[in-house]
Amino acid sequence: MPKLPRDPEEMLVCEIYASLEGEGGDIGLPMTFVRVTGCPLRCSWCDQPEAFWEGSTMRIDAILARVRELGARRVCVTGGEPLAHRQCRALVDRLLAAEFRVVLETSGAFSVAEMPDHEALCLSVDVKCPGSGMADRNLWSNLAVLRAKDQVKFVIVDRADYEYAKKILADRRPVCPVILQPEGGRNLRELAEWALADRLDVRVLPQLHKVIWGDAPGR
Ligand code: SF4
Repeated sequence: MPKLPRDPEEMLVCEIYASLEGEGGDIGLPMTFVRVTGCPLRCSWCDQPEAFWEGSTMRIDAILARVRELGARRVCVTGGEPLAHRQCRALVDRLLAAEFRVVLETSGAFSVAEMPDHEALCLSVDVKCPGSGMADRNLWSNLAVLRAKDQVKFVIVDRADYEYAKKILADRRPVCPVILQPEGGRNLRELAEWALADRLDVRVLPQLHKVIWGDAPGR
């Protein structure tokens, strides 16, 4: 992890940009992304390695000002790992107070329990499957606090990941929507057919930004 600011008003930010939401329940909608720097995990398929170290310090007021400038009414706070930043709650509170819809994307390795219970906040929690190499980092208590407005996402590399996701869903029964996403956009049809055959109550979704722009940044 890079050295993160200790000032409660400052965060290390990799980038802020406007695009379409490529994943989850807001897929296809205009979204401003606030990508913070630093993640203690190393998923085998991570597509944001630049967010491990690159960034500049910004005050939360300046983040808000940039988000307002970009014009979307939805904001995705992502990373890196936002919950590794002690200022994450303050940023989310300020965005909610400014009447943005907020999606907080987290690896699932940090507790979401300190986040506000607010209808305009979607906690988007990953469950890391074995193919990521990070399955031992899942914090299972997170699944119990999620509500219907939130979402759980599994990135699926192969059949073993799919079977893992199926077992977690049967054992833990999250009350929020569940998304299965094929890693790298491959095997979408295969994943859809597995989920249909098992009558899983899940959304099988591609990463829309990759369908539209490939590996180029969609902005
Ligand atoms: S949790 Fe996210 S940012 Fe961190 S290594 Fe995994 S995919 Fe990359």
